[in-house]
Amino acid sequence: MFSISQEVISGSQLKSELTDHKAGALVIFEGMVRNHNQGLGVKSLEYQVYHELALKEGAKILQEARDKFNLHEVRAVHREGHLSLGDVAVWIGATASHRDDAFKATRFIIDEIKHRLPVWKKEHYLQAEAKWVFCKDHHHHVHFEETDFYKKQSIVVNQNKLKEARVLIVGLGGLGCPASVNLALAGVGKLRLVDYDRISFDNLHRQFLYRPNHVGELKSKMASIILKEMNPFIAVESIENFFHPQQLEEIDLVIDGTDNMKTKYQIHDACLKCRVPLVSAGLFKDHAQIKTLIPGDGCWRCLEHDVPQDALLGNCNDFGTTGAWVNTVGSLLSSEAIEFLQNGKNSTSESVLHLNLKNFSLFKIKKAKTDHCLYCRGDFQIEESACEVLTGSDSEILDIRNLTDEQVFDSIKNRDKVVLCCHRGHRSLKLAQMLRAQGHDSVYSLRGGVKTE
Ligand SMILES: [Zn+2]
Repeated sequence: MFSISQEVISGSQLKSELTDHKAGALVIFEGMVRNHNQGLGVKSLEYQVYHELALKEGAKILQEARDKFNLHEVRAVHREGHLSLGDVAVWIGATASHRDDAFKATRFIIDEIKHRLPVWKKEHYLQAEAKWVFCKDHHHHVHFEETDFYKKQSIVVNQNKLKEARVLIVGLGGLGCPASVNLALAGVGKLRLVDYDRISFDNLHRQFLYRPNHVGELKSKMASIILKEMNPFIAVESIENFFHPQQLEEIDLVIDGTDNMKTKYQIHDACLKCRVPLVSAGLFKDHAQIKTLIPGDGCWRCLEHDVPQDALLGNCNDFGTTGAWVNTVGSLLSSEAIEFLQNGKNSTSESVLHLNLKNFSLFKIKKAKTDHCLYCRGDFQIEESACEVLTGSDSEILDIRNLTDEQVFDSIKNRDKVVLCCHRGHRSLKLAQMLRAQGHDSVYSLRGGVKTE
């Protein structure tokens, strides 16, 4: 059994768990915090462990030891947190019928733990600043500091602005892979990754974060582990679910890397409502479109009121794509995000960029703000006389005066465009806002409620 401990490791307790009268040998290894490393006096140590992966990998190492050697029992514990001189950092115990197996297994386990576990070590020195240490192998340590990590980049960006930024990335596929890698390595302080999907074999040619042995794993979870390994100085959170407006909490910017119009508009509407800027890209074969939404400055609905049908636009599943194209567009998403986080605007905040990835022709279309756009106005309230004009002739009026909230939610499911009406227009407005936040983007509220003469 492999575990991670935040408490001081008690060797005697662990040893008693391994007591076995049939075993001819018990070998114990204790790795301890020593007072020096590479010529510097060390006063204490700090370990940061990536729990999920470390527990999985640790269990795998112990199983490999069992398969290789003839063991009775085996147990290993790795410390995390702040350790003092002399504290046990790693404890390994193995029992076997013969000492040779127990010796070899213990040696094998400590070597593999050093190589494979996602554990970061920070050394606190007597006469120098504390440093994170990456153990490349048993004899070679690389020391690095956060400022060194961004040395070349901080010439061209304000690193503190990036460190303070909190970015939500929806979709960890073809667009999300390059965008998330670039933002993680650029030092965006907090990344929140959202994707419900699992890695499939036909993703691998373009979604370069993943390997064939990751097939079947959840994209956002796997991406969060890999990004955290790439840059230990940032925080990465994974949400293995569909997009939900609640995920916008404490977020400064959203990157939309999804591939269907319904989700894109749902993200757009939620960002507009919660006043969170959004950078979004779409790709059809070799044609890409990149745009930025700054709430209060016009929206997508100003121009294209209704969600376009995916079937009319096409997507990579049906028409195919190549990693070179998708990764270019994903990189542009991250570069637009960095520019926005630096200056509050970027080159696609006023115009939509259209780019042909085969011949590199590009053009920009200036965005237009429509004064009567209900989405920009944000309240989704309409006058009775405007129902047909604004929602189209196929809209239905739903009188919710005798319906419970649940009944309203139920009856919305199978309808396209609905205008809710109640006594005075207060409850219908509240429900319309809730339904819109859940993705029902054609629900309106009748201003002033039902006229009763
Ligand atoms: Zn608008």
